[in-house]
Amino acid sequence: MAALDPHLQEIYEVVLRRNPGEAEFHQAVLEVFESLGPVVLKRPEYVESRVLERLCEPERQVIFRVPWIDDSGRIEINRGFRVEFSSVLGPFKGGLRFHPSVNLGIVKFLGFEQIFKNALTGMPIGGGKGGSDFDPKGRSDREVMAFCQSFMTELYRHIGEYTDVPAGDIGVGGREIGYLFGQYKRITNLYESGVLTGKGLGWGGSRVRKEATGYGTVFFAQEMLRARGDSFDGKRVVVSGSGNVAIYAVEMAQRLGATVVACSDSSGYVVDESGLDLELLKQVKEVDRGRLADYAAGRPGATLVTDGSIWHVDCDVALPCATQNELDEDAAISLVKHGVSVVAEGANMPTTRAATRVLLDADVLFAPGKAANAGGVATSALEMQQNASRDSWTHEYTQERLEGIMRGIHERCAGSADEFGAPGNYVVGANTSSFVQLADAVLALGVI
Ligand code: GLU
Repeated sequence: MAALDPHLQEIYEVVLRRNPGEAEFHQAVLEVFESLGPVVLKRPEYVESRVLERLCEPERQVIFRVPWIDDSGRIEINRGFRVEFSSVLGPFKGGLRFHPSVNLGIVKFLGFEQIFKNALTGMPIGGGKGGSDFDPKGRSDREVMAFCQSFMTELYRHIGEYTDVPAGDIGVGGREIGYLFGQYKRITNLYESGVLTGKGLGWGGSRVRKEATGYGTVFFAQEMLRARGDSFDGKRVVVSGSGNVAIYAVEMAQRLGATVVACSDSSGYVVDESGLDLELLKQVKEVDRGRLADYAAGRPGATLVTDGSIWHVDCDVALPCATQNELDEDAAISLVKHGVSVVAEGANMPTTRAATRVLLDADVLFAPGKAANAGGVATSALEMQQNASRDSWTHEYTQERLEGIMRGIHERCAGSADEFGAPGNYVVGANTSSFVQLADAVLALGVI
């Protein structure tokens, strides 16, 4: 990797010292800083006014105990987090992740990414993230409800329609948002729809929100292909993951004429050469909350692979939609060897820095998550708009808005990459364009 600009290097070292042991947070900061050399050269006031230090320090971080009782009567204790990173562009906005790997460093990396992602959407939303080390896997509905109610019993005092608006992320979907919203409503005695997004359609949710992250990732990849005179039609696609983001990335890629041949979960990956059966995948994952083994068992011709990496399956387009750092250097080398031409991140930071370098050096069209997966949070902002106006839009109109937003993000990234001397580099484009917008707002609002 190229050396950082000396000012940025100095600031990065302070970030390392002030946040020891938070590897993913360090990685997220470094990935942004690596793009900013030409920006601070052109706009030295950003360094003089210590804008980067201000953006790297969350406005507020909350860590709390979440006690609850499981089905056997045992008392469980989890840890809850909400990191309110930046509200210069709007109320803190970002999801909650329930997964055993969640710790402060993970929440801070996600919150930091979210600030830039949300800026890119062009909508009035700041950045934050939260969650817990609670593992919903294998838990009964009642246990999930008990956990969510206890979690919200602390969180409610920190959030609000104009303050901080959480949503889902890994392990938090419509069911969890329902229990969280119910408890918020009960404690506050307010039907404050705009306090959470990702709500059910019957009680304040937005059409297309569930599909938005996956659809948006494919729309962004489509824009990149279009810029090169190409399309999804006839492409062979691999999607990692099989959660909410992955399922709707598969759906839209298929609608645009691609064949999606593989997806994965924590037990392995399935290869289905004739193209994934989306209805079966939805049944197994969304309805039965099952494993991909159940998909393979119900689908002649599909094979489940329990060792090895999904990135060894050859494809034209790779959409990592599982989790951070799932696509490493070896995986990138294998994808390049098999002739991949597009990689778009549906997950947050799924590609390691070394892997990103391999892909960029090979001229692969690479879309970083903060651009490619911004459709989810953008549609959350559309949900907030509908809640504020007590309105409910049609599927068609909402999807049109999402498509327009993704085109806008693509344009901003491409334009900013050109402006800062890295044409075609969407990493530079996404980081510089969002940073300039944030930095100008930080300056405008004064030392706060
Ligand atoms: N968790 C999603 C993300 O990573 C969505 C957040 C939201 O809708 O607020 O952007």
